[in-house]
Amino acid sequence: MVRNIISVDVEEYFHPTEVSAYVKADEWSSLPSRVEPQTERVLDLFDRHQVKGTFFVLGWVARQHPQLIARIISRGHEVGCHSFLHRLVYDLTPSQFREDTQRAVQAIEEACGITPRAYRAPSYSITRRSMWALEILVECGFTHDSSIYPIAHDRYGIPGFGSQARTLITPSGAIVEVPIATVKLYGGAGAPVGGGAYLRLLPYRYTAAGIRLINRQEGQPACMYFHPWELDPEQPHLARGWVSRLRTYAGLRSMPHKLDRLLSDFEFTTLAAVHGAMADRVPAAGGAGTSRP
Ligand SMILES: [Zn+2]
Repeated sequence: MVRNIISVDVEEYFHPTEVSAYVKADEWSSLPSRVEPQTERVLDLFDRHQVKGTFFVLGWVARQHPQLIARIISRGHEVGCHSFLHRLVYDLTPSQFREDTQRAVQAIEEACGITPRAYRAPSYSITRRSMWALEILVECGFTHDSSIYPIAHDRYGIPGFGSQARTLITPSGAIVEVPIATVKLYGGAGAPVGGGAYLRLLPYRYTAAGIRLINRQEGQPACMYFHPWELDPEQPHLARGWVSRLRTYAGLRSMPHKLDRLLSDFEFTTLAAVHGAMADRVPAAGGAGTSRP
């Protein structure tokens, strides 16, 4: 059985791009936090299925809830980086991107004593116009990136990028790119499989058939992701406009059951278990588990 990748983007319900347009970053601290109980729900779900996953943590969340990141590590999972402020990469200058990434790495190191080696951009915002970001990720110590969605979408995606993980060479060195799972449609276009939104919005069999196709026909692992807020129907609904509200809040109640089925029907593990080791322990003091073995 092919081992697939399960990943979780750890952020608050007010961080998704569909919501953040209505909430300024300086208001974040005044909003009620829900990320701890939501992520605990994910940790319990993974424990029930004896699954280890890769948790791409927002630096801002690591700063506010360091003990949560330490718990993710102590329960045997992997921690990656999901930027500090959840700004879209293609909206930043290279120097702003570098600064945000370094700030996130530091916050995660301080929270759990691990230097993240895998990166996931907010809203898959590494696109053709922000491919320069990969070189900066290499310079910041990243060995893996999982920020490219090989589909056409109004906000993100590189159609035609290819569905398989591969090593990309930047002027500063190599990085392994692990695209989000897609299947090829007639005519060659990619159809999305990997996202929590598709699991929420479409019948379970859509996602299951997609993974089966990738595993059996291509013999490849599928890289899947979802967010802790996708398991929380009680969250404040801050997104406005029917498209944003549909994308963000539809199907929240069905999500725990669908994830349960997904974790029963397929085998899942961390990104590093499939594509090579990535995390280093930080020798510096501060944070849990900081000593080098
Ligand atoms: Zn995100």
